[in-house]
Amino acid sequence: RAKQAAKTCPVYFNNQMAEAQSVKMELETRLRKAIREKQFLCMFQPKVCLKTGRICSFEALVRWQDEHGEIHAPGSFIELATELGLLDEISRFVLEACIEAFEILDPVFGDKTLIALNIAGAQANDIDFMKTFIARIVAAGCNRRIMLEITEDVMVTTAHFKKLVKPLLKASKIKVSIDDFGTGYSSIAAMTQLEVDELKVDRSFISDIHNTPLNQKILSAIEHMAQAMELPLVAEGIETADELRYLQEQSTIQTGQGFYFSRPVLAQELIEIAQTSWCRAGKYRLAPHPDA
Ligand code: C2E
Ligand code: MG
Ligand code: MG
Ligand code: MG
Repeated sequence: RAKQAAKTCPVYFNNQMAEAQSVKMELETRLRKAIREKQFLCMFQPKVCLKTGRICSFEALVRWQDEHGEIHAPGSFIELATELGLLDEISRFVLEACIEAFEILDPVFGDKTLIALNIAGAQANDIDFMKTFIARIVAAGCNRRIMLEITEDVMVTTAHFKKLVKPLLKASKIKVSIDDFGTGYSSIAAMTQLEVDELKVDRSFISDIHNTPLNQKILSAIEHMAQAMELPLVAEGIETADELRYLQEQSTIQTGQGFYFSRPVLAQELIEIAQTSWCRAGKYRLAPHPDA
């Protein structure tokens, strides 16, 4: 019968697909359990002033640490979490982790350092989610110290965001950053109207920039645009001394982030990093580092 079926209907659903489906279902079960049991951690990556080497803020990046202790990057579960409607729960976890992190970080980095937290475009447009999220930030007294990084695809369609959500954020003095800038769809007009506080130039433009004339030109164009809009830029994904030197010497970008300075680490590890010779008291030595 199976043979016959295979003859009569084209094979839309094969073994591989069945396998993929069951892998996904298993992941779904594990992810639901992870949420119930709060199997997440929050790591932090410094954003660094490229002139002085001083850490000016941190980005919170979520990790899933499963029951075997294995750590999963968000790329492997954010999409499914979104599909299952579990992302808000994860974001609330990350927010609480940020609120706790201030207590660890402030004694070393001071009480002016911001933490940037990622939210998905769909969340940024969800007024009910945003209301409770903002209320929690305000209640914790860290509204001036949290920045929201939003991936730019949200901005395109969203007169909604501009009318309803941005005013709430503005009233609460919560800053907004556009993440992965240059890879999404946002128009320059949208950027200007939304009065965002920062643009993060996507890693794809920074990678190997010292050897890549096209990216150099693109970056220069982004800089001109950002200058006209009076928007600070952050360079994402600085991995090498050469990339850093290019940005310091050939660009006006003030702030950078990337493995060259530090991978995302636990808040406690940041305290230790701040005491190494490579990064003393929260200030990186910006001359090319021998281990970099
Ligand atoms: P993102 O917000 O653009 O974060 C930057 C990603 O690039 C992070 O990956 C970070 O570890 C990585 N990265 C930083 N510096 C370098 C570098 O020098 N080289 C390279 N190759 N990579 C670098 P991660 O932690 O895997 O996060 C991936 C994405 O997942 C994030 O991209 C963000 O969009 C999303 N994400 C992370 N945490 C959350 C969260 O709490 N909520 C939501 N909605 N999304 C999150
Ligand atoms: Mg981000
Ligand atoms: Mg990014
Ligand atoms: Mg990215």
